[in-house]
Parts: sequence; C-alpha cells; structure tokens
Amino acid sequence: MDGYASCGKSTLAKDLASALGYRYIDSGAMYRAVTWYLLEHQLATEEGPSLRAALDTIVLDFVAKDGSTVLTINGQEPGLALRSMEVNRMVSPVSALHSVRLAMVERQRAFANRAGLTMDGRDIGTHVFPEAELKIFVQSRPEIRAARRLAELRKAGDTQWTTEEVLANLRERDEMDSNRDFAPLRRAHDAVDLDNSNMSQEEQLAWAMDLALAKGAVRP
Ligand code: C5P
Repeated sequence: MDGYASCGKSTLAKDLASALGYRYIDSGAMYRAVTWYLLEHQLATEEGPSLRAALDTIVLDFVAKDGSTVLTINGQEPGLALRSMEVNRMVSPVSALHSVRLAMVERQRAFANRAGLTMDGRDIGTHVFPEAELKIFVQSRPEIRAARRLAELRKAGDTQWTTEEVLANLRERDEMDSNRDFAPLRRAHDAVDLDNSNMSQEEQLAWAMDLALAKGAVRP
C-alpha cells in the first residue's frame, strides 16, 4: 500500500494482515525510527561517512509486546515519540538520503522471506516490491488526513498544533516525498486506486479483502 501522508494506509495494511494472518510492516515507522535515533543521539542527518557508520550499526525490529507490535531500534523503544512533530518535520529530508533508503529497503526486503506480508509506505509497489501480488494506492481528502494526524499528535500528548500547521506539514512532506531523486512517491502503474474519504475502516477492509482473495490469498 502506498500513498500520501496520513491517508489511512497503515490502518488498512494492518487490518488486512490481521484478517489474513499475515505479518504487517510499517515502513514509514522505520524511516521515523531512524530519524528519531539520529536526532536523539545527535548524529549526522546529512549524507557522509558518519551517517553511513551510524546506519551500519542500526538494528531495527518489530517485536510482540502486550498483544501488539512495537518497533525497537538498537534495543530502544521510541514509542509515541515516533509521531512527534520534531520527527514529522525531519523525516522527509532524512528519508530522501540515498544511504538511508538503501539501508531501509534492504531491511524491508528481508521481511519478505517470511510468508504472508503486508507493507505500507511510499515506494513499496514501485521500488521495494515491484512484483507484489496486490498493490493499492490510497488517497483521502486533505482535511480528513489532517484530522487523523492531529488525533495522533494529541494521543502522544502533543496538543500545541493547529489543523493548519498539521496540514502544512503533510503538504510539505508529500511535496518532498514526491520530488526526491531516489524512489519518490509514485502510484505504481499496476496499482488499484482507493479513495477512502467516505469509507469506514470496516468498508475499506472488506474492499481490500475481496481484492486479496481474488489474487489468491486464503482466509486463515
Ligand atoms: O507513513 P509515514 O507518514 O509514517 O511516513 C513518514 C515518512 O517516512 C514519509 O513522509 C516519508 O518521508 C518516509 N517514507 C518513505 N518511504 C516509505 C515510507 C515512508 O520515504 N516507504
């Protein structure tokens, strides 16, 4: 599943994985974790030997905890800090760096060695898994996306942002993600389009489940 920021890709990918008994990987969380880690440890956020050295030592994992999955980076668990405005602001420039993308894509492909996987991001259908059996390009109206991101920030205890500020950040990230040199956000030519602006979570899952079953996925 690919699409712009906060369009509901993660919710759909997660729901579909759980309905099919698949593993779900949030590739955006991986880019967020690297961004958080570099900021937290005051490491280089531009291309160069020190960034590459940091990336070589980074171990990212999705581990089961209290009935859900949490992301760890070198044993640290950033949790809700991944969704902070500081990370929102820096994640697109960091994700545009070639060595960051190479390191993340290599790890993302390694997850596919295990059977049954859904993954969401920006370049999953075009670059990470061009042979994926099912690709969905998700879109949603801007005001709906902003409301979702605002709710996420509030959940993380960050109440200082207005809808306009959140909307501006989403636009900025979409712009940067679509215009970077390496693996920019694009709709894969063989993707199926989904606009979920007027759909409930259950409706979008039922829609995607029909597609997955038609592509040969089997209900567990
Ligand atoms: O999906 P989410 O909004 O959490 O992603 C955060 C950021 O990570 C995106 O704005 C983008 O800069 C980067 N990203 C990416 N490629 C992906 C997934 C996310 O560049 N496959």
